[in-house]
Amino acid sequence: MEVAHLLSRRTLAMSGSGIRRAFELGAKLKDPINLSIGQPDFPVARAVKDAAIHAINADKNGYSLSRGIPELTARIATKLHNDFGWHFQNSESDIIVTPGTSGALVLAAMATLNPGDEIIIPDPYFVLYPAMASLSDAKAVYCDTYPDCKLTAERVERCITARTKMVVLNSPGNPGGVVNTVDECRDLLDLCRRKNLLLLSDEIYDEFTYTDARTQKAAKPENDPMLKCPSPARFPGAEETVLLVRGFGKTYGNTGWRLGYAAGPKKLIEQMIKLQQFSFVCAPTPLQWGAIAALDVDATLQMQEYQKRRDMVVKALSPVTGLKAPGGAFYAFPKIPEKLGMTGLEFLEAAIERNLILVNGGTFSQRDTHFRLSYAVPEHKLQAGLEVLVSLLSGG
Ligand code: PMP
Repeated sequence: MEVAHLLSRRTLAMSGSGIRRAFELGAKLKDPINLSIGQPDFPVARAVKDAAIHAINADKNGYSLSRGIPELTARIATKLHNDFGWHFQNSESDIIVTPGTSGALVLAAMATLNPGDEIIIPDPYFVLYPAMASLSDAKAVYCDTYPDCKLTAERVERCITARTKMVVLNSPGNPGGVVNTVDECRDLLDLCRRKNLLLLSDEIYDEFTYTDARTQKAAKPENDPMLKCPSPARFPGAEETVLLVRGFGKTYGNTGWRLGYAAGPKKLIEQMIKLQQFSFVCAPTPLQWGAIAALDVDATLQMQEYQKRRDMVVKALSPVTGLKAPGGAFYAFPKIPEKLGMTGLEFLEAAIERNLILVNGGTFSQRDTHFRLSYAVPEHKLQAGLEVLVSLLSGG
């Protein structure tokens, strides 16, 4: 059978993720220095593994409610109350547990976007954001955030049209690792309120916010005795405008468990739950039990380790690229010095020749002038990678 003519324009218009391409190239190298992978290198905490194993042994292996097991949504409601001061009349209908953060992003797009609608995403962006538009026959409007990778109200306002429905904020961000300030979060929230737009806040890296980017200037300091990651969700009444999306995989080192969640405007969450019934059905049930235990894990030590690695990256690369310290996540997104006259792809190829795998900036952007490195790797690997990079960036 000839399949080509059966394929949809939607799928044909999407190109495969550049991250996968880097992965495939790397598979051909022998013991490469791989700084392309965006997943933590620490093991899942024992208590979290045990909770999931226990659930499997206790025969909790069937479907769960589409919205997630009530014990987990209740635990998330408590977390969001402590963290943001959000109140839930009924955590079972105001929160949805999804297969990964990706699941929440796709459901949010499917529940809001009609063909031709517009969704404003930062450029550079996480690779799934343009796909949220393609999957729903909507249009991604790229908001240029160079050179600092900050999605600000001023930049977003210029992109708004009568078709705009949603703005996607990702702080701490992938690929830039950039964290918005409290004021920038407030301005974005105000803009979205004024224009009646949904503000989707993808906070998958919230715990990976380093001490210098954390703040006490949160809207509700009484709920915020510890320094926290700035977020538009921290302002009173934000749950009517902000769709908060968070994940478990990065924070607790279990990306393969495929667990995330979303909370926000009740009428939207209801629709996302309905769509989940007819698509993913539910997030993996026994792993949802593991997620309850994960929410009690203190990941401070890991975060300190990541901050140390972030500092190594900045120390090595800022003299040769002008890189500013990223406030969060575990990525850096330096510009390739113009004097090298190389595109991101050419730089990636030069790195691969030296056994180093990166991702070129064009994977995350309409331009290909930068590269992304992930420092979620053991320190000796990172050190080896930085030495290669400094030599390449100095024209060596
Ligand atoms: N949002 C961002 C910004 C990401 O970087 C990623 C994963 N790299 C995701 C969402 C999706 O994560 P998950 O594995 O939870 O689907």
